[in-house]
Amino acid sequence: MAQTDNKKFFENLSGAGKAIAVLTSGGDAQGMNAAVRAVVRMGIYVGAKVYFVHEGYQGMVDGGDNIKEATWESVSSMLQMGGTVIGSARCKDFRMHEGRLKAAHNLVQRGITNLCVIGGDGSLTGANLFRKEWSGLLAELVQQGLIDEEASQKYSALHIVGMVGSIDNDFSILAWICKKPMIGMVFALDGEMMLPTVKQDAVFCLSVCASDWVLIPEMPPEDGWEEKMCQKLSALVVQRLGFDTRVTILGHVQRGGTPSAFDRILASRMGVEAVLALLETTANTPACVVSLCGNQSVRLPLMECVQMTQQVQKAMDEKRFEEAVQLRGRSFENNLKTYKLLAHRKPESELPNSNFNVAVLNVGAPAAGMNAAVRSAVRVGISEGHKMFAVSDGFEGFYKGQIKEIKWADVGGWTGQGGSLLGTKRTLPAKHIDKIAEQMQKYNINALLVIGGFEAFLGIMELLAARATFEELCVPMVMVPATVSNNVPGSDLSIGADTALNAITFTCDRIKQSASGTKHRVFIIETMGGYCGYLASVGGLAAGADAAYIFEEPFDIRELQSNVEHLTEKMKTSIQRGLVLRNENSNENYTTDFIYQLYSEEGKGVFDCRKNVLGHMQQGGAPSPFDRNFGTKIAAKAMQWISKKLNESYRKGMKDNSYAFHVVMKQTFLKLSIELNHHLTFFLTCAVVHEALSICHLVKA
Ligand code: ADP
Repeated sequence: MAQTDNKKFFENLSGAGKAIAVLTSGGDAQGMNAAVRAVVRMGIYVGAKVYFVHEGYQGMVDGGDNIKEATWESVSSMLQMGGTVIGSARCKDFRMHEGRLKAAHNLVQRGITNLCVIGGDGSLTGANLFRKEWSGLLAELVQQGLIDEEASQKYSALHIVGMVGSIDNDFSILAWICKKPMIGMVFALDGEMMLPTVKQDAVFCLSVCASDWVLIPEMPPEDGWEEKMCQKLSALVVQRLGFDTRVTILGHVQRGGTPSAFDRILASRMGVEAVLALLETTANTPACVVSLCGNQSVRLPLMECVQMTQQVQKAMDEKRFEEAVQLRGRSFENNLKTYKLLAHRKPESELPNSNFNVAVLNVGAPAAGMNAAVRSAVRVGISEGHKMFAVSDGFEGFYKGQIKEIKWADVGGWTGQGGSLLGTKRTLPAKHIDKIAEQMQKYNINALLVIGGFEAFLGIMELLAARATFEELCVPMVMVPATVSNNVPGSDLSIGADTALNAITFTCDRIKQSASGTKHRVFIIETMGGYCGYLASVGGLAAGADAAYIFEEPFDIRELQSNVEHLTEKMKTSIQRGLVLRNENSNENYTTDFIYQLYSEEGKGVFDCRKNVLGHMQQGGAPSPFDRNFGTKIAAKAMQWISKKLNESYRKGMKDNSYAFHVVMKQTFLKLSIELNHHLTFFLTCAVVHEALSICHLVKA
């Protein structure tokens, strides 16, 4: 359904007669190229003319060759590049009226009245001003005889869509750009102390690096902080660990590097949304900023965002720091709260005592970020006064009694580690429910936090089904989705999926690069994901694939034929490499070998093929910054949900078998159905998958 609707929606779009210019401005940020590429391809797809404006506003002011029409091929092989291929600049002229007048003239001469500005708060503030002044600028151009009245009428409205591209993430919307290089740096420093001193990035890094101390403008240290910090660090670093202490300023490494899968996907989705927004604008539509909220594309009024950003600055200037934190947005505030909660252990005497015992376990295959989630759950649980128990090896360890109290210090350093330190197994509990109930009674477990994938979901369903027989199971149970496949019903994002996507994306980059000297080659790549097409389709979007075959979107021999024909045509252009992703279970008969052989045979004389099965490399590796942060945050949320339920039950004074089973996730909570089958999984995941797939089809390499 979603797929057919999407297809129809895209087919009916028309941008004929429109001219769109895209520019990158201010400091460069990873992902800007993906946004430019998506704007260009989506613009061309809907029949509009798209122009690059090179060197940001400077190119718009200077005109000439700086404003050039883009072609489909001109944005090929851009996805994986850092920085911005079309150039960015800081432009004094654009701050002056005279400069903006020249820029307006250059746009009108080319019939451009649609502008996509990718930049930080300065660039978007400038864009807002330009739009406000537009009609005045045109009147001036008429007055000076530079354009005629007819042109002034024809181009009377300027439509602007902003996309936030900034490593500071300081524009007042939800945006996550550039996290990876900073984290890479922390790991390179291994064991040494680093004090980041930038705003959003620092707060993000708090949870992903589990830093000991942070200095940020929004939270100035109290008087005497130097003394306290030295005491803490010397106890920790010098005396206890015997490590040397070094100061490192990260500087421009934070701007460099290949964009992460997340940045490419975010930027591609934003670019497509920007063109859609431009197609829908009328003369009275206010300028907007496109972004993602959770997994949904959103449009926010540019003017309000600009005002909000200015309010943050004002609050900071006036030292109203708490307000500044609130104005920075929920994500910033939550990161800061979670950091404060997890980094600083309260003395034992100050901890509450809830008398509740909570067990934590990992179930299913390991997923990067599981350990960050366990650390967060354990520490939040302890802070709330619970006794925390770690169960090793999932439900198997549970029935065998592999249960141990876990303390604050036991989970130190877990955030950055891959795999599952608790130990995880796929075993389901149904056959051993009596023994599990026995262990629940033995340790007096009052709540259960299960971190895992599809088996975790099934396992909890089995426990729920046994509640009528075993009173011990009538306790709050919560599941935190953690699986590379991202196929947990009721959730739209799992811990581990981002790390797996990065593995797929960076491997595809390498694979494509391996053929940089070899023309006319198509790579067939098999991804994991079970029956869920998330990794293949979203990975395809991030890596720039020509096709992604998934189970949810049935394909036949005609589809395969049309893809081969597309690649044959493509080989005649300047893009002479192809990439095809195939989910491991996409079709029983059209296997990876079959597709490889079919493409090899049909492409004979035009291109040759290579195949790669990515396999378990998608499950391994250190968690990405996103997964560390995500795991930390949602496990904290899960623990808070448990505490709330436990406190309610304490008041009620009984075990309750009506406790809902809760799946925690980042933004949305979809209603769960117990009638579980594969199709339910697909239904619940398909909205995201199909959007990615549609975009992938539209902007394919
Ligand atoms: P960023 O967009 O990354 O915050 P800057 O603040 O340097 O970077 O802004 C980039 C460019 O945007 C500036 O060089 C200038 O050309 C333009 N700009 C910024 N602020 C304004 C403004 N208030 N009025 C007009 N143009 C502006």
